[in-house]
Amino acid sequence: MGSRMSRRGFLRAAGGAATAIPLGSIAESASQEFPLDEHSAASASDRIVDIHVHFDEKNPNFIRDFVAVAKRINLTACLLTPYSHRVQVAEAAKQHPKQIVPFGFIDLDATDVLSQVKDFHELRYRGLGELEFVKKPYVDASYLPVYELANQYGWVLLFHTGIVLRRSVDQPENVASHRMRAFHLEEIARRFPKLTVIGAHCGNPEYEWAAEVARWNPNVFFDLSGSTLTKMSRRLEEFKNFFWWSGQGEWKTATPANDPSAFIKLVFGSDSGLDGIEGVVSQYRPLFNSCDVPGNTQQMIMGRTLAGILRL
Ligand SMILES: [Zn+2]
Repeated sequence: MGSRMSRRGFLRAAGGAATAIPLGSIAESASQEFPLDEHSAASASDRIVDIHVHFDEKNPNFIRDFVAVAKRINLTACLLTPYSHRVQVAEAAKQHPKQIVPFGFIDLDATDVLSQVKDFHELRYRGLGELEFVKKPYVDASYLPVYELANQYGWVLLFHTGIVLRRSVDQPENVASHRMRAFHLEEIARRFPKLTVIGAHCGNPEYEWAAEVARWNPNVFFDLSGSTLTKMSRRLEEFKNFFWWSGQGEWKTATPANDPSAFIKLVFGSDSGLDGIEGVVSQYRPLFNSCDVPGNTQQMIMGRTLAGILRL
């Protein structure tokens, strides 16, 4: 995916997560709340689980490099894998089950998408993502057979939500962010209740819609990858206005471990190159501090919720 790489470059050039923070402070601040040393007291329950790591086709040593980072910071990642690399990543996941959860990257508009999904399933993939750059809105009838299959498998689906970068300014492209708005996830989650539906980027900039969809649907979560935490870094407390509710009984929506904080509807996602994952970890902390997110909820966001869903 050349486009994938150009997006990385684009995000970095735009002042993405990794470049904004000196590396020393990243390791220091990240280790205070999320143990980074696998030889320390860090246990499986302290593991960071990242829903959003793209397989990098341009790095021939990607698996080796990824596993090194994952072991160093006690991280498990859903590795979003192009079809052409499906066997390689399936094998890597068998070798490194504590680091790699294989997810299939598909194009929802591909004519052979259903057979690709079945092939991923045979290789014991656990979900699909990142679904993006669609030609029609996510709820278009032509995409429903994919969701139906994924629902049968009890999979996790990661959807891009919100604004999307422009890959070319001089070539025509059939791309529109409105097809990927966060509120579409509501219909998918309700039609297919065995799915876990995760929206990347929390609907940027429609955070309020994203949060409300998550509030009423126990099988919907969002990550805060992308430019949001950078853009909002000086007004993080505004997230309290989006994730405003508390308690389960009043709003009748089940949450992992019956967590009463609205922020439980977030999970960790980095959407970063290997050199940027720790930077995104350290960007979640100021959000937690600004919004008074309880310590237990922080642990759920950083790993335990996804560990439970994926039965890690
Ligand atoms: Zn995305």
